[in-house]
Amino acid sequence: MGFNRGNEIFDPVAYRLIEADLDPAITYEIARTLIDALLDADWDTADESVDEFLEFEPIVAAFRECGIVRTCADVGKVQDVSCWCELEADHTIPHSDLNGHQW
Ligand SMILES: [Zn+2]
Repeated sequence: MGFNRGNEIFDPVAYRLIEADLDPAITYEIARTLIDALLDADWDTADESVDEFLEFEPIVAAFRECGIVRTCADVGKVQDVSCWCELEADHTIPHSDLNGHQW
């Protein structure tokens, strides 16, 4: 069973980082360290925090480095099968799912 309360730890800290207006590289490092630790504790709702901080690039970059991105989620049909795009939102290449379907 995953750890679904990581947002209660991550989000308030991230808001303080934003308010502190630190060097973006420092914000990135602190956010990445915290994300790593929470993911090690099986944090399974990190995607919700990504959505919360989309306007703040150092935090989005920290999530990206840890493999957590806001996905495109476009729905396509490949050979009559519905597919959900798993690429990061705003990608510039064709939509693609985890099974290699592209549309
Ligand atoms: Zn897509």
